[in-house]
Amino acid sequence: MDTIDHIDCWGRIRTELRSSIGVDAFNNWIEPLGFLDIVSGMARFSVPTRFIGNWVSRNYADIIIHLFKHEKVEISRLGFEVLQQGKPEQSKPQAAPARQAASAPEPTLVSAPLDSRYTFEQFVVGTPNELAHAAARRVAEGGVVSFNPLFLYGGVGLGKTHLMHAIAHEVRASRPGARVLFLSAEQFMVRFVQALRFKDMHAFKEQLRSVDMLMVDDLQFIAGKNSTQDEFFHTFNALVEQGKQIVISADRSPGEIEGLEERIRSRLQWGLVVDLHPTNYELRLGILHAKAEAQGDIHPNVGLDVQVLEFLAHRISSNVRVLEGALTRLFAFADLVGRDITLDMAQECLADLLRMSDRKVTIDEIQRKVAEHYNLRIADLLSPRRARAVARPRQVAMYLCKSLTSKSLPEIGRKFDGRDHTTVIHAVKRVEGLKQSDSQIADDVELLRRLLEE
Ligand code: ADP
Ligand code: MG
Repeated sequence: MDTIDHIDCWGRIRTELRSSIGVDAFNNWIEPLGFLDIVSGMARFSVPTRFIGNWVSRNYADIIIHLFKHEKVEISRLGFEVLQQGKPEQSKPQAAPARQAASAPEPTLVSAPLDSRYTFEQFVVGTPNELAHAAARRVAEGGVVSFNPLFLYGGVGLGKTHLMHAIAHEVRASRPGARVLFLSAEQFMVRFVQALRFKDMHAFKEQLRSVDMLMVDDLQFIAGKNSTQDEFFHTFNALVEQGKQIVISADRSPGEIEGLEERIRSRLQWGLVVDLHPTNYELRLGILHAKAEAQGDIHPNVGLDVQVLEFLAHRISSNVRVLEGALTRLFAFADLVGRDITLDMAQECLADLLRMSDRKVTIDEIQRKVAEHYNLRIADLLSPRRARAVARPRQVAMYLCKSLTSKSLPEIGRKFDGRDHTTVIHAVKRVEGLKQSDSQIADDVELLRRLLEE
């Protein structure tokens, strides 16, 4: 795809946005954006004011990134350039920054800026991330370097960058003299290429090798970029030999990153490799409570019905960034219109997000999980047998199909070996009744629902 295709793409995304976020929001925030280009996974737009850029990036970045993905264009963030005057030039491709940057390279390797909110204090710990958190803490404490490198991996928005910044904050606070270099793999590559281009390789190497801790975020980015990988490998070895700590993150485990050289892969596996699992309901709720408190400080006049947090923890995907975005949007909206945040308001204000993160549970999945839970085979579940040990789980499965999918009763019946829709109605009623009288059934249903919704 070239820029022209991307412009077409943006046209379709605009149309989609107009219907999903509503005409008013669209006119306020999206209409003023002028698409520029896509550079290194960043879609760049011109904006008339910084405020609009900030607003869009806070409230609509997830949707926009998602819609690009839907168009088969992988981007990971948005960038905004404030136009000094007049209306933005609509969709005019501009030179990429790499081509503009003909100035001399930076004299020293400056660490990427750290986000002051990404501290250990603000990181909520739960089962899915406790190991990663403990390892990060240990590395931040320093002492004998036991996990070298520490390799953190996991899906988007699960807290990898947050934990890395937290380590860097901690080390800088407790050991002010320590030189901590934090870079994304992409920045690493850019600096490397600059050094090559300006024949400054010696200084580049020296600087890299003089740090006490090297942190490289999103390592998957340099997979397949061979000379950058080479340089990374040499730096890595030099630092490990000197007993310096290395911390790396990626979206996959070393074994799963394609295009990574074998020697690097095996080196990475020498240390401690830990993954951040997708969040579960409890962790999401914990995070929402923490973030709601922080939002409450920014918007002291806005009241919040705690039910909303439970609702969001149930309904929004495992990506914490999306969760955070939802909450930010709710508070901003409530503040703007002078209302409190209620369930109704949340459903209305987040309609687009909720639609997108609707987790599509399938009937097959439900049958599989229910059979597993009751130690049956799926064939038993579908069979005509009426023994309670089989009939009850079958009814539970039908009930879950009705409450977790949007399939009609006849469709559900068909998937249970061609049963009639009245059988499904009966099963749903039966389980609803049993949930009140039989706590075992109530627990089973709740557990299965959670397993299926995660
Ligand atoms: P990743 O680098 O894995 O894609 P980030 O570290 O950028 O994810 O996290 C995305 C957002 O979610 C950040 O704003 C981060 O502060 C927040 N976040 C993720 N996990 C947690 C957590 N356990 N507690 C608090 N905030 C979290
Ligand atoms: Mg990250």
